[in-house]
Amino acid sequence: MPAIEVLHLQKNYGDIIAVDQLSFEVPRGKTYALLGGNGAGKTTTLSMLLGLLLPTSGTIRILGIDMIRDRFKALPRMNFTSPYVDIPHRLTVEENLRVYGGLYGVRHVKRRISDLAEEYQLSPFLKRRYGSLSQGQKTRVSLAKSLLNEPEVLLMDEPTAALDPYTADQVRTALKAYQARTEATILLASHNMREVERLCDNILMMKQGRIVDQGSPVELIGRYDEQNLEDVFIQIAKGSELPR
Ligand code: ATP
Repeated sequence: MPAIEVLHLQKNYGDIIAVDQLSFEVPRGKTYALLGGNGAGKTTTLSMLLGLLLPTSGTIRILGIDMIRDRFKALPRMNFTSPYVDIPHRLTVEENLRVYGGLYGVRHVKRRISDLAEEYQLSPFLKRRYGSLSQGQKTRVSLAKSLLNEPEVLLMDEPTAALDPYTADQVRTALKAYQARTEATILLASHNMREVERLCDNILMMKQGRIVDQGSPVELIGRYDEQNLEDVFIQIAKGSELPR
């Protein structure tokens, strides 16, 4: 059974088709990327997978659970990072992590927070209010929050977008280690091609709400006869519009 199964997923906003008959699967223990230009439908897809947004039609199963009917059975086994979902500003970082730990029913939450604080270098600002942190510091807190419950399925929207190159590299190393330890499944949206090449087994290339191609980074680079993933991306993005 795949960790994530999406079948004929559709999201319309009036005349705008944000996601158009999308179907894909992510096997357990793998990392897949959703790649595509601005407005391709990545965030909309992730929001529907999380149950934050109701699809117009289609089916989503995560860990075999129907997300439209039974999402509360799946959510404790999942987590996410997104720059579009904020964390309470007035609480300190530690208070926030404790609250989320409680919501997810994390056992030994103090220990888990101190492990994550070390891994994501949060210790210097654990006692500070979340709202007073820099964007990169907030991103690290959000990453730590997303791993509190040791999720089996992790959905990430631009996980390292606000991080400096060195911190981003450390975060990718930590994510790889987490996955190696837990065999979690990760689906991420990113505009960072190096990140995708480093982390992802497979890429789903989106355009106008549909998947227009897919394959491993090496396969796609070979298929488009390019030197790197960035050039593959540009070739697909500048290709002609899809017929509706
Ligand atoms: P980006 O890379 O810019 O973050 P994305 O691939 O995540 O883009 P989405 O945010 O999923 O793209 O948007 C897909 C399409 O749906 C876009 O055309 C967007 O304008 C439209 N859209 C998204 N949310 C809404 C909304 N609430 N109302 C109307 N249209 C929306």
